[in-house]
Amino acid sequence: MSLLKISDRGIYCEQADVYIDPWKPVERALITHAHADHSRKGHQKYMSHHDSVPIIKHRLGGVEIQGVEYGEQTKINGVTFSFHPAGHIIGSAQIRAEYKGEIAVASGDYKTENDGISGEIEAVKCHTFITESTFGLPVFRWQNQNLVYEEINQWWRKNKSEGKLSVISAYSLGKAQRLIQNLDHNIATIYTHGAIEAINKLFRKHGYNLPDTVHLGGNGKLKEEEGGLVIAPPASIGTMWMKKYKTAQIASASGWMAMRGTRRRRGVDKGFVLSDHADWDGLNTIIKETEAENVVVTHGYTDIFARHLHEMGLNAYTAETEYTGETLEPEKTEEKTEDEAV
Ligand SMILES: [Zn+2]
Repeated sequence: MSLLKISDRGIYCEQADVYIDPWKPVERALITHAHADHSRKGHQKYMSHHDSVPIIKHRLGGVEIQGVEYGEQTKINGVTFSFHPAGHIIGSAQIRAEYKGEIAVASGDYKTENDGISGEIEAVKCHTFITESTFGLPVFRWQNQNLVYEEINQWWRKNKSEGKLSVISAYSLGKAQRLIQNLDHNIATIYTHGAIEAINKLFRKHGYNLPDTVHLGGNGKLKEEEGGLVIAPPASIGTMWMKKYKTAQIASASGWMAMRGTRRRRGVDKGFVLSDHADWDGLNTIIKETEAENVVVTHGYTDIFARHLHEMGLNAYTAETEYTGETLEPEKTEEKTEDEAV
């Protein structure tokens, strides 16, 4: 692999002298998506998909950032870069680089099911594909997302019929909007924690038609017996903020809920298996469709997944990066103040 290589600062294109999702400060950074492990502070210039721009500005402050459309080409020192849908969260992209007939793609995080707001992933033909493997084990096979939404709706309806409040823990960028888009708003009101509502507001302002939600501002509007649903970030579960709701039934929506014991360890009453990352079949399908002969595995079950790809006849190897994918731990964000404010 020569066009894109993994350096100690990030994925590096030497010919263009730009980095993709760098974890150390650089001059020019191309960003696949606005999650904190891919979009970090301290770079001089940023470039991302249009829909990631307001979120990156919100999380990192006044950075210099250029937004591009999917498929739009940008030439830097002879290298042609373009952003392509990754289906992971709103604004997420795979970044394609082409130079003298060689094509490499850094895919960031991706998922293969179209959730109705994050776009449909595009398998980009390339020689070298840089992939995640957050759920790169054969045990991870997601069921159809509509069945999961229905499971959540049923749980929520049951809680409501018992006069209880439902609380679901979901990442503030991505999973929260996916739930808001796909759950049944006819059941009762959906309330959001401040960290989530701040993101919703940005998306709505930039043209996304997210269904209505009510910001849970701590002003006592919520009556638990009405059976509403609160969507809150994982970091808020178990805090004083949460504890004031006496009837709260607490659930988590995460790919990790497929692993035995996770629900108990996370201290939630109910677990729903819903991930914004590709499962085993999704990873394999996309990699096959890229027709890449070289595959670099950057995060997740890297060793096992690279070995599997190697056995499939690909030139696959792992690389050390600082990406985390979907973690079991509460997300790291720049939203401390908002988290504490509500
Ligand atoms: Zn991500």
